[in-house]
Order: sequence, then structure tokens, then C-alpha cells
Amino acid sequence: MPYFDYNATSPMVRVAREAWVAAQDEAWQNASSPHRAGVRVGLRLQAAREKLAVLLDCEAERIVFTGGATEGAHAIMQHLSEQLPLDARIGVSVTEHPAVLAAVGSYFESERVVRLPGTFGGTVALERVDQALAAGVKVIVLMAANNEVGFLQPWAEVARKCRAAGAMLVCDATQWLGKLAAGGLAEADWVIGSAHKFGGPKSVGFLLRPAAENGFSVRRGGAQERGQRGGTEDFPGIAAMVAALAEAEQSKVLLEDDRVRTRQAFEAEITRRLEGVRVLAPVVERLWNTVALVMPYAENHRWVAKLDKHDVQVSTGSACASGKEAPSHVLAGMGVAPEEARRVIRISAGWDTVPGDWQKLADALVAVADELKPPSNVVSV
Ligand code: PLP
Repeated sequence: MPYFDYNATSPMVRVAREAWVAAQDEAWQNASSPHRAGVRVGLRLQAAREKLAVLLDCEAERIVFTGGATEGAHAIMQHLSEQLPLDARIGVSVTEHPAVLAAVGSYFESERVVRLPGTFGGTVALERVDQALAAGVKVIVLMAANNEVGFLQPWAEVARKCRAAGAMLVCDATQWLGKLAAGGLAEADWVIGSAHKFGGPKSVGFLLRPAAENGFSVRRGGAQERGQRGGTEDFPGIAAMVAALAEAEQSKVLLEDDRVRTRQAFEAEITRRLEGVRVLAPVVERLWNTVALVMPYAENHRWVAKLDKHDVQVSTGSACASGKEAPSHVLAGMGVAPEEARRVIRISAGWDTVPGDWQKLADALVAVADELKPPSNVVSV
């Protein structure tokens, strides 16, 4: 069954499963226990941290293992809200993931939040970043790659701008990691990652903090993660996450160009075969795996349900918000009208997706278009 919902979550890859099972069998003890078995787990945990640091090209002590990106975002925002002067403001790109927006909103009053609008292609308007920094904003929050439409944000450029202005960048790299090379991401002061988006297990992730930020602490009340996070470390989960990212970095991310071509061939075919369909952000650089399509008629959940009956799994614009009625804030930020936003479906491929799967998806879309077509006396809008 072609699965085109990798941005929601991905299946665990073989190397991750093997690492998980091996760690569960051999290294299940508590890494904080004083006995030899516990100490051995602690050493393996440190080795995993160092391996991840090599993959991310950063110092190992910058890494704090977490329960995923949502936890990472909350921990960072809580910390920043406590460390920054009470009147310091924070600039937030409007197309961030809801988990990040909610974290910002939980710790910063709205008067302290400067909204950074996007262009029609979705990427943040750089002149607005410049203005915010010039006005003294101390932190910019900008994701690396968007989960709904796939556009890539100019995070490297914004990291440089922040450094020059003496501000910090918080970069949610959840959708970037595993799909594109991680090199350079550690230039951001704070980075958030989540294993289940790149073939690792769910509820495991990490964050990078600035090397100098010693007072940092997530989920207080425990001495784990060198006092930075309470809760027994999930070493098997961490081992599996690092194995998944290592495999992606060593082989998968190198195939980006081929995969972009496969995605573009699908886009060309579907726009040729299905009248009135539109690809969102067609000319900006996007993740090789993501296409957001505005369908010519019928609401997106009907397309998703019908495609499922044709054995193809896709999602509505925002999988994380499926079931939610409000139109996507990402599409609104891109200037997509609410009526159109309700017709957007998100297609997100994976590392195992082959051209034949894209072909099945195109055929299924054409078949469903026939099933959902309004009677000819009804004018579609
Ligand atoms: N950030 C982005 C861009 C995402 O796509 C997601 C997942 O949906 C999250 C954050 C939240 O990730 P997690 O499931 O690890 O909390």
C-alpha cells in the first residue's frame, strides 16, 4: 500500500530496529544506577551522544536527549522566558509547527512576540527578520523545512544574521533531519529533532543547546542528562534514533537530486492529467518528499478517505491537525484563501518510495477525481 504520509510519521528502519532490540536485550538497565551494568549503559549512552555530535558536527555536551520535538520546543521556550530580560521580544515565523507556536505562546505574552510573515512561497520574509533584529529582538524562531508544504527556510542565512545582531536562532529541524544533510544545522543556537520523522522510534528526540548555556534544564526534578532532564534515559530508543540518523546521513540524504526529479515528474504528470489541480509553492526549494496539492473540487478529507479506499495513504494539509476544522495557519500565511485551503491534500513520500508508488498515486488521484467530480450543472469554485 503506497504510504505518502511520512511527514506525519515514518516506519522504523531496519538498522534502528536492530539497534533497539540489541540495546533492549543487552543494555536495558538504568544508566544512572551505580552497579556495573548501569555504568555500562551510561557509557553506551555517552557513546551515542558522541556519535550524534559527529553527525551534527557539534560538541557532545550541546546535546540533550528528549521525548521528541514538542518537549524540546517547550523546554527551550521555558528556559528562554526565564533567562531573557522581562521586556525582551522574540520573533517567530508564522508558518512554524503548531507545537512550536504553542510552546512560544505558553511562555511569552503576545506583546513580546513579533510575528514574522512569510512570502507567498511560504519562506520567511528576510527583510522582516532584519527589521526585527534591528529593533532589538533577542531570539528568532524559524524551522528548517516546513511540514505541510515542504518549503525550505533560509535558516543558515538567518543564523548568520542572528549572530551578527547578537541574537539567538531556535531552529526546529524536525522535518529536515534524515531527508537533507544535517551539516551546518548546529550553527543555530538551539535545534530541535525528533526520531520518528527519520525512521527512528516515537517519543525520542534531542535538542541542541548553546555550549555556554549551562543552567539549562528540561522536566526538572531529576539528575539524568547531567541534571538537565528528569526521567530515566531511554537508551534503546536513543540508540535506535542515532542508528537511523547515521544511516540517513551516510547514504540516504545523498540521493536528494534523483528524488526531487521523481517528485517533479509526478507534479508534471498530475497537473497534465487532472484539470484544475495546483501545486503549492511550485518554484521555491522544497523537501524532495513533499507536495501540497490544491484539488479542483471537494474538501480534502473526502480526497483522503477516497484515496485510502484506493489503497493510497495521504493526509490533509496538516496531518498533525487532522480532524481539526480550522484552515491551516501555514496556508493562510502563504496567502491561500480559506476556501482553497480546505481542498489541500499533503503528499509526503519516504526513502523507500519508488517511482511506481508515485505512479499509483497519480492513477488513484485521477480515479478519485472522477468519483468526486461535481455534476456538470454545478459550477465548481
Ligand atoms: N515540528 C515539526 C516541523 C513537526 O512536523 C512535528 C511533528 O509533527 C513536530 C515539531 C512535533 O514532533 P514530535 O512528534 O516529536 O513532538
